[in-house]
Amino acid sequence: MKTQRKIKQLINPTAVSDGAGVKLNRLIATPTLDYLDPFLLLDHFGSDNKDDYIAGFPEHPHRGIETVTYMLKGKVTHRDTMGNEGTISAGDIQWMTAGGGLMHEEMPVAEEEGLSGFQLWVNLPKKLKMTKPRYQEIKADKIPVYEKNGAKVKVIAGEVGDVQGAVTEIYAEPNYLDVTLEANAEFTHPIALGHNAFAYVFDGSADFDESGNFVANPKLVILTDGDFVKIKAGENGARFILVSGKPLNEPVARYGPFVMNTRAELYQAIEDLQNGTFVWSEKKEVVTI
Ligand code: FE
Repeated sequence: MKTQRKIKQLINPTAVSDGAGVKLNRLIATPTLDYLDPFLLLDHFGSDNKDDYIAGFPEHPHRGIETVTYMLKGKVTHRDTMGNEGTISAGDIQWMTAGGGLMHEEMPVAEEEGLSGFQLWVNLPKKLKMTKPRYQEIKADKIPVYEKNGAKVKVIAGEVGDVQGAVTEIYAEPNYLDVTLEANAEFTHPIALGHNAFAYVFDGSADFDESGNFVANPKLVILTDGDFVKIKAGENGARFILVSGKPLNEPVARYGPFVMNTRAELYQAIEDLQNGTFVWSEKKEVVTI
């Protein structure tokens, strides 16, 4: 007997300012929801007014986590201490494993169309906190699409039917789907029992529990445990990201862009920054996935 996942909690976005003064809506990492193991943060950034985002995120450190940026519109340039540099545009995904430490900048570009996208933080287990930094950057046209019965799903990570996601080899075994449903269309999707899962509805509305109650955007939907989810769009259709992952069940010690297991490891990160030894290098102990 398979169990259908239902709604555990509905959460409204919290308006915050981060980076050098970027206005964004925060869904995870708020007083309402500190984290949903292994997901540490979810932001929906962007605006049609460049003053809300143009200050961007000048150079800053990360350690112990993965940061995942998915663009809906506009452009963000990035550059880091591993020598990576580029621009991500609408539909592109950047899955960055910060691991043992890197510094990077993420700077939005002022475009006529404005800016919109998501940043998700995925935790790393204790054994991979100090791993070598790694990028998986995939352009929009390389992200596989699943289409059936009024559902169009961009499969960023995980699998839908026989369509394999673009991003692979991530410890949390994540599903990250960008789902667009036509009016009244249904989408049923298996999610591994025991994995934590959420949907963020950012366009239209959808029924997540066959109750006839439609969740209107913008809203974060935390799902109960189970084997699958069944979602039906309202009469104006729906668009949402559907994300799930394996919980780590480890202690979480966080301070800004560092997420470790203990406070001592956070102090070490700050000390390393001050000593100029923060950035991961081959000279340090090599930990591989
Ligand atoms: Fe960052």
